[in-house]
Amino acid sequence: NRTTLIAGNWKMNNDREAAKALAAELVEALPEVPAGVEVLVCPPTIDLCCVAHKLEGSAIALGAQNCYWEASGAYTGETSVPMLKSAGCTYCIIGHSERRDYFHESDEDQNKKAKALVAGGIVPVFCCGEPLEVREAGTYVEHVVAQVKAGLEGLELASADQLVVAYEPIWAIGTGMTATADDAQEVCHAVREALVELFGAEMADGIRVLYGGSAKPGNIAELVAKPDVDGALVGGASLKAADFSEMVVKA
Ligand code: 13P
Repeated sequence: NRTTLIAGNWKMNNDREAAKALAAELVEALPEVPAGVEVLVCPPTIDLCCVAHKLEGSAIALGAQNCYWEASGAYTGETSVPMLKSAGCTYCIIGHSERRDYFHESDEDQNKKAKALVAGGIVPVFCCGEPLEVREAGTYVEHVVAQVKAGLEGLELASADQLVVAYEPIWAIGTGMTATADDAQEVCHAVREALVELFGAEMADGIRVLYGGSAKPGNIAELVAKPDVDGALVGGASLKAADFSEMVVKA
């Protein structure tokens, strides 16, 4: 009974014209979304407003890829939650492995972002996931559960739709090496158990847990068929309107 979420993370791709064109193609391909499915796109910050304009009146939601936790002030280059809200965002990705690795973001940073987002009325899409060494060492469940607990501790939720978690094994991102549906289920289930500890069983039962990492039209149905996989966070395949809309239809 959790609404499936198919979310596109455009990452740092496309210029303004290409972003507008992709948004327009998606609106055309998805005049309505199937019952029980929600669709989200997360363009680069600079294109949020023009994509918001294209999505107006459509069934596709808008999200950002990152935020800062202070509301305003002398934080050169950052974007606050109220700014994202006023640009039309209802979701914001946080803690993506690319932000953790390349921009040295910590679990504490994610915790501050998650709290600022929920307080500001934007749903965090909180990412977690292990690198290949941890997968090979066999300690990936502990690794991911620790990220979830550190990133989300002390977060106060009034309802389960105020949070989304995305499990993205780093070795599967952009590599074409999708985790098997069973691998995804194993860790998404462990994430849900960590959410039970953090928020209680009833809340955890309603929180969406997504899989990300080389999700595509050919594997989406198998992934979302798993009981604890409530959708996907899609990178590469979200940049092609035909692929992304096919995923929505197959989810
Ligand atoms: P790919 O779908 O390109 O593997 O990227 C996944 C991802 O990182 C989405 O946030």
